[in-house]
Amino acid sequence: MVSIKSICIKLLMLLPLSNIWVSRDFDFFYFVQQWPGSFCDTKKSCCFPLTGKPVANFSIHGLWPNFNDGSYPSSCNIAENPFNQSQIIDLVPRAEKSWASLSCAGGSKKENKTNSDNERFWKHEWDKHGTCSYSVLDEHAYFEAALNLKDQFDLLQILQNNGIKPDGNLYSIVNISEAIEQAIGFQPGITCNRDALGNRQLNEIYLCVDKSASNFIECPILPKSGKSCTGFVEFPIF
Ligand code: 5GP
Repeated sequence: MVSIKSICIKLLMLLPLSNIWVSRDFDFFYFVQQWPGSFCDTKKSCCFPLTGKPVANFSIHGLWPNFNDGSYPSSCNIAENPFNQSQIIDLVPRAEKSWASLSCAGGSKKENKTNSDNERFWKHEWDKHGTCSYSVLDEHAYFEAALNLKDQFDLLQILQNNGIKPDGNLYSIVNISEAIEQAIGFQPGITCNRDALGNRQLNEIYLCVDKSASNFIECPILPKSGKSCTGFVEFPIF
């Protein structure tokens, strides 16, 4: 007769195998870049870091582990892998240039407007997204990978080469998407937001990257860009 004890032992022996099936850390990364002009000209406006006004180019929003179905893991084991700026000290000059925060550290109310806080932004991105790719990238590797991806392609240059300039004029989303696809080889995701007057404008560009965080790939799923991101949208001055 099979005892309850032996059934329990057999179940326990199966556990590691079943863990392999259920644990799915992530499938790919979204590498997301924001247009600073579109972050700053909204009702909330923006603030600059102590290092001054960032250069007028797309800047990194984040490198986000994602699942093929469009969902994503968030804030994984923060306590075990806390953000520590001293671990990326050698990368700070590059991050200040390409990953500046534009969010007002004192909140969005006019009277509270101060500077933005780069370190706070990087900590937020690490806590919410970076910790979920810790199986592949530690903190230094994560930030370095994002900065290297940024250096692979200059999105503003790509658009300007196609006559698409941040001059406050309207440009076709299809033309923006095709210009990037021609240069990079893969279709980007594009999201829009609204300026203070409610006009639709180009906000963020999503590129997909493999799990090693070094190669651009075809997006398994594109972010939902919504109805406001079709036809012609503004490309604001910064
Ligand atoms: P997410 O949660 O989408 O990865 O990042 C958004 C958060 O980062 C918000 O809480 C926002 O306040 C903060 N943040 C700080 N600086 C920036 C910035 O320059 N751009 C964006 N989009 N968010 C920023």
